[in-house]
Amino acid sequence: MRLYGGVELGGTKTLCVVGAGTDIVAEARIPTTDPSATLAAVVAFFRREIAAGREIRAIGVASFGPVELRRGAPRWGLITTTPKAGWSDVDVAGPIGAGLGLPVGFDTDVAGAALGEGRFGAARGLETFVYLTVGTGIGGGAVIGGRIAHGLVHAEMGHVSVPREPGDDFPGRCPFHRDCLEGMASGPALADRFGAPVETLAAERQRAAVELSARYVATGLRNVVYALAPERIVIGGGVGLADGFVPAVRAALPGVLGGYPGLPEHADDAFVVAAALGTRAGIVGALALAEEAAVTPRP
Ligand code: ZN
Repeated sequence: MRLYGGVELGGTKTLCVVGAGTDIVAEARIPTTDPSATLAAVVAFFRREIAAGREIRAIGVASFGPVELRRGAPRWGLITTTPKAGWSDVDVAGPIGAGLGLPVGFDTDVAGAALGEGRFGAARGLETFVYLTVGTGIGGGAVIGGRIAHGLVHAEMGHVSVPREPGDDFPGRCPFHRDCLEGMASGPALADRFGAPVETLAAERQRAAVELSARYVATGLRNVVYALAPERIVIGGGVGLADGFVPAVRAALPGVLGGYPGLPEHADDAFVVAAALGTRAGIVGALALAEEAAVTPRP
């Protein structure tokens, strides 16, 4: 069995696995502390697995961002300007590759999840689709013509402008834009409005919070639907996978699109779906990044 290493670098914890496809043969959760300790623990995990006889061919890293992804750029593989203390301008791919002597694939956590859903999940067989996570932040990965779309930087779909819901005077909490989609509809935005994290709210208030976020997400998705023409939108994340979220987006989207361009597909339940891999989409995507890195020359 060809084995790969997958790393999902998150804001509070980092998941490391050894496996291939959706088969995981070893797994460890490491707290995300300061960069050097965290990356040293990641390298140590894979060294132990290699010492135990696992033949790992490459490592894939799906990271929180923003990150530098331009192949050949001097700062490829770095986290650039993150609000997370101590992690700005941190080289992630370099120390992992050097520490293990293996090729490293590197992308955002949402791009990883998009790849995972495209290969093994809710977007299998589709050439052009979007994965949108709604949780602590809101972010999207677009696969266009079978490839993750990157240009100067990765997509930042959470920061699109959205009109306010009637009567909504919440100021928004994006540090850059205040009332962008993420500023209005992320988990922390809902917690600010409702006084507690969504998952701790009583059922009725939780439903109200989920439906409010879903209406904003549907509005934000109008931009995505018209700009990228995806065949499907796959939704993940802590809020996105909450009960009732996907049905509420489906219910709101036709009204948001206003009957234009009148495609029946946009109103079909198969157009907006929950991530089939659930919270595993990111790590499965990291393994897919490793597979690509195993056959791609290093930048
Ligand atoms: Zn923003």
